[in-house]
Amino acid sequence: MSDYQRILVAIDCSDDSPALLRRACALAASARDIHLIHVIEPLALAYGADVPMDMSDLQNILSERARDTAQRYAAEFSIPLEQVYVELGSIEKTIQDKADKLGADLIVVGSHTRSGLAILLGSTARGLVPGAHCDVLAVKIEKRKKDD
Ligand code: AMP
Repeated sequence: MSDYQRILVAIDCSDDSPALLRRACALAASARDIHLIHVIEPLALAYGADVPMDMSDLQNILSERARDTAQRYAAEFSIPLEQVYVELGSIEKTIQDKADKLGADLIVVGSHTRSGLAILLGSTARGLVPGAHCDVLAVKIEKRKKDD
């Protein structure tokens, strides 16, 4: 039996996502133990000061597209659709809050190969670890895995 009862997988909805989901499935006893989150950073926060217009329609379109993609990945891995969350906020904080709320015992996140300061962990994984109340697995995403 797996040590992990509730796994939260954070996906950026890129082609890297299946690699994370495969790893989570290998650790979970059942796909029902896996939850999926994609976070959308509010456009108003990123560009609000530079773009003086209402961006809520664009934000809604982006959220809907992301939800479709996340649900497609969930279906591919037999994860219940009610366990797919698309939320607005800052990426690391929103993932941590969701993990706390769910009582997750593992967060799975991708980690791109980099040089420089982020060489050991991807920057998202690095940002997640200090505030997380559970294990964090950084799945190494190498170039060849992009073809998965
Ligand atoms: P990085 O190494 O910093 O590029 O981190 C990439 C990983 O961070 C992805 O594989 C996801 O696990 C996670 N991630 C990045 N962006 C998001 C997002 N918007 N929502 C959820 N997880 C994300």
